[in-house]
Amino acid sequence: MASSTKYIFITGGVTSSLGKGIIAASLAKLLQARGFSVTIQKFDPYLNIDPGTLNPYEHGECYVTEDGAETDLDLGHYERFLNKPTSQANNVTTGRIYNNVITKERKGEFLGKTVQVIPHITDEIKRNFFKLGEDGKYDVIITEIGGCVGDIESLPFIEAVRQAKWEIGANNFLVVHLTLIPYLAAAKELKTKPTQHSVKQLLEAGIQPDILVCRTEHPLPLEVKKKLSLFCNVELNSVIEAMDAETIYDVPLLMKKEKLDERVMSKLKLNAKNKAELDQWKDFLGRLKNPTQETNIALVGKYVSLPDAYKSIIEAFVHAGAAVECKVHLHLISSEEINSENIAKKLESMDGILVAPGFGERGLEGKIETVKFARENNIPFFGICLGMQVAVIEYARNVLGLIDANSTEMDSFTPHPVIALMEEQKNLELMGGTMRLGSYPCELKKGSKASQAYGKQKIQERHRHRYEFNNHFLKQFEENGMMPTGFNPDTDLVEIMEIKDHPWFVGVQFHPEYKSTVLNPHPLFVRFISATLENKKIK
Ligand code: GLN
Repeated sequence: MASSTKYIFITGGVTSSLGKGIIAASLAKLLQARGFSVTIQKFDPYLNIDPGTLNPYEHGECYVTEDGAETDLDLGHYERFLNKPTSQANNVTTGRIYNNVITKERKGEFLGKTVQVIPHITDEIKRNFFKLGEDGKYDVIITEIGGCVGDIESLPFIEAVRQAKWEIGANNFLVVHLTLIPYLAAAKELKTKPTQHSVKQLLEAGIQPDILVCRTEHPLPLEVKKKLSLFCNVELNSVIEAMDAETIYDVPLLMKKEKLDERVMSKLKLNAKNKAELDQWKDFLGRLKNPTQETNIALVGKYVSLPDAYKSIIEAFVHAGAAVECKVHLHLISSEEINSENIAKKLESMDGILVAPGFGERGLEGKIETVKFARENNIPFFGICLGMQVAVIEYARNVLGLIDANSTEMDSFTPHPVIALMEEQKNLELMGGTMRLGSYPCELKKGSKASQAYGKQKIQERHRHRYEFNNHFLKQFEENGMMPTGFNPDTDLVEIMEIKDHPWFVGVQFHPEYKSTVLNPHPLFVRFISATLENKKIK
């Protein structure tokens, strides 16, 4: 293994959901601010080849990269923090590892050998650990290992981390272990035992963590840090306190205060190229925390019981809200609970309405009612993917008079298939990884709301869908005031629909939320928020 790339592995202990992704992204941000080129990859221990087929209720949003990989939502955090795109290589699951090994076995690449977890699976894991480092583009590669130390399913990953040290060289290798220090209210005590145990499990697997990052609700007193240092074999100054933060975007600065970046640089013998440049980040935080105006926006979808299902949309509102110094109160409303009777009550206090992406029939009628309400009451409307498709169905039914119009996803026998399966989707049998995925070009019509927002005519956006606007109906829509304002120049697929006589009604077939970052808030979200503020003034 060549190159001087430094490898940092982040493991987790005690419990899941401690925010390894945010710690990884924050550390990466701090190193980036010092002038290093950094990327982050996530290794997930489940058997699905990718999270594309997972229910959003179970796993949260599926994040899509430029190259069309369906990935874990942590990759969204990586991009939002680092302002750099990730790719398929940044997210690998146990399923993908096994698939690669078994495919090789069938090709006869291991002829004569018994194929085993060690060495074949661990070799394949290591090959993937090092893939992004091959061309020497990165000074530092941070690898987040999903799950918790001690889980049966993450054992091969942990073993591969242990082995990796000797291939990378001890000077280029670092393990950061993220744990929880629970507070027992009755005893008024912070407890270190769960962390001691999780570090013991790592030690049993042959890994000595170099740095402990301790999630805690209360500051860690020196005695607690000393205890952790003593029993976990970690230097005292490498026991890092990670207090609960007001927003995830505070975490890089909290980690800087705790000197996480300095500890990492000193252990890896990395010489900072410059003083940490975090002015733009701080500027963003300043605007985020000191809004001068506020707006209420409804996010209508069917996965609202797990807000992680809409992670990138929620974060896109945070970025865009800060850009216009506006506090966005986002109200997640279940489309299944909306009907023509209660809709006014649920939505009349909203300054803007977004209909979310999604799949399947459930909750569809509530979404159609929602679009109708926004259209008829001149409330700024933003439809994303299924949200755009529903806007088209609603217009067909209620304006064009095509009463039974539908998407063939919901009703394959509809007499008016205004949304229909894309040609290349018709003969597909496999569900995984076969949607229209990743970045495609789009050309905007001059003078449209979309082109005003972007300030240009040619854009690239990411996709994740099977169905499309049916161009057979295009003329009818145009003649009646719903205008296609964005087209794929290569295929003529309609990418954006707008209503001419409405303050701001924009439906997009793509997912703008995936490209919104702290430093590059997405123009459509920014314009949508501005439109809601204008709507407030009129009200
Ligand atoms: N279910 C729709 C399709 O496949 C929309 C998908 C989405 O909202 N991501 O076309």
